[in-house]
Amino acid sequence: MSMKWKLTDRTKMLLKLELAITLPAVALMGFSIWNLKHIQRDHVIEAALQRDLQSVLKIAEKKTWMKADDLVDPIRKDFPSPEEGTAKINAKLDRILAENPELAFVVFYDKPNHIFTGRMQSADSGNPAFCDSMGDKFNMFQGWFSLEGPSLVEHLRMMKQKEDQAITFEGDWSSNKGRREYWSYEIFVPPSASHDRVSIGVVGLDPSYVQNNFLPGVMKDVLSDKSNGPKPEANPPAIMVRPSKDSDAWLASANWDGPKPEVELASSVFPGMVWGMKNRGTTIADMAAKFLRYNYTVLGALSLLMIGGIFLTYRNVSREMNLARLKSDFVANVSHELRTPLALIRLYAETLELGRLNAKEKYQEYFRIIREESERLSALINNILDFSRIEAGRKEYDFKETDLSELIRSTLDSYRFQIEQNGFKFEENISPDIPPVNVDREAIARSLLNLVNNALKYSKDRKFIGVTLYRANGSVKLEVQDHGIGIPPSEQEKIFEKFYRCGDPLVHNIKGSGLGLSLVRHIARAHGGDVHVESVPDKGSKFTIKLPLHGAPRTGAVPA
Ligand code: ADP
Repeated sequence: MSMKWKLTDRTKMLLKLELAITLPAVALMGFSIWNLKHIQRDHVIEAALQRDLQSVLKIAEKKTWMKADDLVDPIRKDFPSPEEGTAKINAKLDRILAENPELAFVVFYDKPNHIFTGRMQSADSGNPAFCDSMGDKFNMFQGWFSLEGPSLVEHLRMMKQKEDQAITFEGDWSSNKGRREYWSYEIFVPPSASHDRVSIGVVGLDPSYVQNNFLPGVMKDVLSDKSNGPKPEANPPAIMVRPSKDSDAWLASANWDGPKPEVELASSVFPGMVWGMKNRGTTIADMAAKFLRYNYTVLGALSLLMIGGIFLTYRNVSREMNLARLKSDFVANVSHELRTPLALIRLYAETLELGRLNAKEKYQEYFRIIREESERLSALINNILDFSRIEAGRKEYDFKETDLSELIRSTLDSYRFQIEQNGFKFEENISPDIPPVNVDREAIARSLLNLVNNALKYSKDRKFIGVTLYRANGSVKLEVQDHGIGIPPSEQEKIFEKFYRCGDPLVHNIKGSGLGLSLVRHIARAHGGDVHVESVPDKGSKFTIKLPLHGAPRTGAVPA
């Protein structure tokens, strides 16, 4: 019956523990793992990191546009009016070129007045190859404007209505002494040209200015602007530009560690040019893997902590339940232990009362049984009282200089008869050289009785009890030996815990409270000593109480 209850209680507790802690914990861990797997499978991190870099490129493009517009805007406003006549127009264009060395050339076209004029920086006019290429460019613009001038102007005017910016950007790559250079053209309608008039201005940026000044400036701006980057960091991403038809970097920030960018954006301010960006010293895939690794590690550590917590809770609850079970066993055992001697005492007292016994020895025997049973009763009650005092922290010892040999001998004397009557061979071995020791008489006598009682209880057919008292290395040792059932090694430490009784079914048939040895240990320790056991199952046990000769035991209450 009690076994069944234990099982149910335990199962119930386990179920509750599982429902209350384990299930949510496992669900949470499962969800986190699923989430991380999903992030890994769908490359969510990679996409986010790419978006970050992409947004930086968009900022680069925007800064390029603003910088180009800032550059061209005053020039545009300065542009000559078609009515001014070619000579004046040329003079004005030359002045613009002189004031803006970052320009390579300017072009002015006016359809109604049949003007097409192209001017280049005077510093370059001595370079025949350059003059030739300029001539080609001017021819290209003239051909283009005479064919498509009206539609281009219409397009620019529509842009102005829509975006307030009547400017369009063109550009192309060319080769100069085997090196690539980028020509950027800003094309607009001069503000001074009247409505509907087909008039066009072109500003050509100096390729070396674009390469050495303009683009490096934009890159520096973008990389140092903390609000742009995915995170303001000591190691900003690296940026480059390349021709759209060539995958190699043409121009790159100082921290570029190539070869390939991780995200790209085609420039609309510099058509034919592509912006590229990557993280320095790492790749997006690496960063994502690192993030996932980190998260898996944290998850693993948390799981371990959680398992540890669950294990601790489980252990504590189990321990409490065990204690509760031990206590209820204790109550049952103690009630039984009280009832047996009482019943015997009553039975023999009633028989004596009737006065029908003839033999004198019978009277003697009955009186002896009554005395022995009442002794057992007082021993048990003393144990319980001591135990409750210890538990309440009120146990007090009365230490006095004592002749231990005499104490042990007289304690055993009142027991010897009972021991031998139970068929035990009894050996007493008390060394003559024991000096007086500071002990509590009653407590030491009770310890000895508890040990002797156990030897009586836990022996089967080989009935032997040996008590030895001797001096060893500054202490006195009191040994109680038997040839009884012994104690398995795994339980030799536990038997000194309160309520603990061995699991052996044999022990369960022998009544006991599980208090005796815990009291013995408490008493030994209160005397500054200890108790230990050597035992072999089925061979026997030897309990040794060690008391220091010169330790000054504490007086008064000793904690449990
Ligand atoms: P009790 O004897 O009342 O059960 P104790 O605290 O004296 O309680 O002993 C605890 C347990 O230790 C016993 O239940 C028994 O299993 C074991 N034990 C104690 N003394 C002996 C012994 N001499 N031989 C075998 N087992 C013993």
